[in-house]
Amino acid sequence: MRRCHTKDWARLKIGEKGSARGGICAIVKLVSAKQLVIVGGGFAGLAALSRSAGRGLDITLIEPHEGTTMIPALPDVTGGFLAPGALHTSLKDVLPARARHLKAAALRVDVGARVVETTAGAVPYDYLLLSSGSRTAPAAAPPQPYMHYLDRLADGRRLYDAWRARLAAPAARVARAVIIGGGYTGLEVARNLAAAATRADRAAEVTVIEIASEFLGFLPPARRAWVLAQLEGAGVRLLSATKVQAYEPEGVALSSGVTLVDPLCVVCTGSRSALPEVPADWPRLSDGRLCVEPTLQVPGAPTVFAAGDAAAFPDGHGGYLRKAVNFAFYGGRCAGRNIVRHARAKPLRPFRPFDLGWVIPLHDRAVGQMLGRFWIQGGLPMRLHYFMCGYRKQGAPRRALFSRVFKLPDATGARQTKENQQ
Ligand SMILES: Cc1cc2nc3c(=O)[nH]c(=O)nc-3n(C[C@H](O)[C@H](O)[C@H](O)COP(=O)(O)OP(=O)(O)OC[C@H]3O[C@@H](n4cnc5c(N)ncnc54)[C@H](O)[C@@H]3O)c2cc1C
Repeated sequence: MRRCHTKDWARLKIGEKGSARGGICAIVKLVSAKQLVIVGGGFAGLAALSRSAGRGLDITLIEPHEGTTMIPALPDVTGGFLAPGALHTSLKDVLPARARHLKAAALRVDVGARVVETTAGAVPYDYLLLSSGSRTAPAAAPPQPYMHYLDRLADGRRLYDAWRARLAAPAARVARAVIIGGGYTGLEVARNLAAAATRADRAAEVTVIEIASEFLGFLPPARRAWVLAQLEGAGVRLLSATKVQAYEPEGVALSSGVTLVDPLCVVCTGSRSALPEVPADWPRLSDGRLCVEPTLQVPGAPTVFAAGDAAAFPDGHGGYLRKAVNFAFYGGRCAGRNIVRHARAKPLRPFRPFDLGWVIPLHDRAVGQMLGRFWIQGGLPMRLHYFMCGYRKQGAPRRALFSRVFKLPDATGARQTKENQQ
């Protein structure tokens, strides 16, 4: 017997010729289609969408933005090395047939009523995927006009405009940036801001504040020294064992007693889950991530799944997978596939994450570890970073990132690596 496809419904609707059986099949399908609601159209949400679309589910994507952003390349936007538009893909261009975009934010999940409450009203679901990612943990202080976060495209654009304005200001006004948090995002932003100052031929003071006694304590000493040399070589000042005492209107007061006056300040102090309100008895980590079963189901809620930064999935070494594009993308695909299997009463499959590795991108070079054992540094890991991120996005971001793969100054990166290894 011929399988009933979504195309049958489309054909019936637009009045093209179709078989009677196809038409009946489409009507039955329309009436019986289960509602899949996906919260968040990032890497995980879109991967789940492409995996579940056209398989008998009626899909609603709840996403407050018109498009999806290539988040890992946001630091490149802050320094003006990638145009903001290059990181943006309109959801209209990637949404499969029979999936709709509700431009709204999810506020609360009501499991009893099986609805997601949103800023645009309640949306009923049979299956729910929570893939709303994470956001920078806000500073425990009233916001100041000079404070920036780097979570979404608009943040990258705002930061770029603010830094560009400072670089263009009269020399009497110091172009000063302070980055709070010396993790990989903070260091990458610092390196990009310093590179933008070099490109503008303008002296700048870029400082990174880190509360721990050393930067990147998880790296072996030689790798750490290499990263710090890259930053210091670019004029970035690194202050470890230092914390922010207060965000004053005139600047950032540090625990060392120094106040950095009139700064542009970027808060990069780790992230928290951006989940809507969920039942209090769902297990979560301290950063808000939902603990999930091997199938990515939420324990005790078999029709609710979580993936990407919204989910906490064991890494097999006593911890949880780090927040990364690779795990979000493949987790989203696994969740999408399992939702379809559940709807078809088939056994679900466990998520089996494969860790390709990671890199710490530093504008034009990087350090990283592949397959958990091979260290690479210089231009190659930077190219891999752009290639892997671009591979997992569609449209303009893929083109922009692939073009960065080829535009990086190869020789400089390679030569620098050798010099620093000596
Ligand atoms: C500055 C920065 C640099 C990074 N660099 C790297 C890197 O180099 N390599 C790497 O692997 N990873 C990197 N990451 C991490 C990586 O970007 C994330 O792990 C990945 O984006 C997670 O994908 P996701 O689909 O879970 O969430 P996201 O891609 O963040 O997508 C979540 C989506 O949910 C939407 N959303 C949020 N709240 C709601 C709501 N209430 N209702 C509806 N929708 C909502 C958001 O608008 C967003 O579109 C970086 C992150 C940042 C912030």
